[in-house]
Amino acid sequence: MSHSLRIAHLYPDLLNLYADRGNIQTLLRRLQWRGIPAEVVEVGAGDPLRLADYHLVLLGGGSDREQEIVARTLRTARQEWVDAVEAGLPVLAVCGGYQLLGEFYQLPDGEKIPGLALLDLETVAGEPRLIGNIAIESPVCGTIVGFENHGGRTRHRHEPLGRVIRGHGNNGEDGLEGVRYRNVFGTYIHGPLLPKNPRLADWILETALAYAGMPSALEPLPDELEIAAHEAFLDRRIRQPDPARA
Ligand code: GLN
Repeated sequence: MSHSLRIAHLYPDLLNLYADRGNIQTLLRRLQWRGIPAEVVEVGAGDPLRLADYHLVLLGGGSDREQEIVARTLRTARQEWVDAVEAGLPVLAVCGGYQLLGEFYQLPDGEKIPGLALLDLETVAGEPRLIGNIAIESPVCGTIVGFENHGGRTRHRHEPLGRVIRGHGNNGEDGLEGVRYRNVFGTYIHGPLLPKNPRLADWILETALAYAGMPSALEPLPDELEIAAHEAFLDRRIRQPDPARA
């Protein structure tokens, strides 16, 4: 059993679009408020990475060029990733990071960047970009809100994170958003994702604590501010008619 939850933030120097750091801060504060020891290690593209040292791994979003660099780095350790994920390693991957978990990301010029192939998932860049506010309903933690901005259209053969209430989701067509496979969660939602979605944050933390062999039942927190932010987003951005679609 571990005495501290160890979180790896992968390639923050490359995958850092849309305030992905806010996700880390949210996770850390929610642990701190409950007196649970945790540490975050920022792993750069040239740094050694031993997945067995961590209980939760985060991959953020990045541009196509940065994704290509990260994909090359990730693939050198593909078997270690497969083994860790099959053993239950919790992974949260957002946007560009989500796309890299699949077989490939096909660029607008047709070139395919091979991914980690951890998931039966592929992404093809298309036009127009899928941009805007998004809300989904997830069986694991209710409504999730945020913002999306991606050219890639993703299709996969796993469970989605949720169903689109408003927005585009994985591909703008099938009404699905994100992915769930073992303890891997992928999503296009950022803005960042976790500050406005405390139930999702706690669900990921419980998954990681259980994987670490630490007590995983979390005390509720006074989440008035987080819930107010979540509700305000729903009221202003989702429940109001979207002028672009009127
Ligand atoms: N480059 C990818 C796309 O546009 C991912 C973008 C991102 O991470 N925001 O689909």
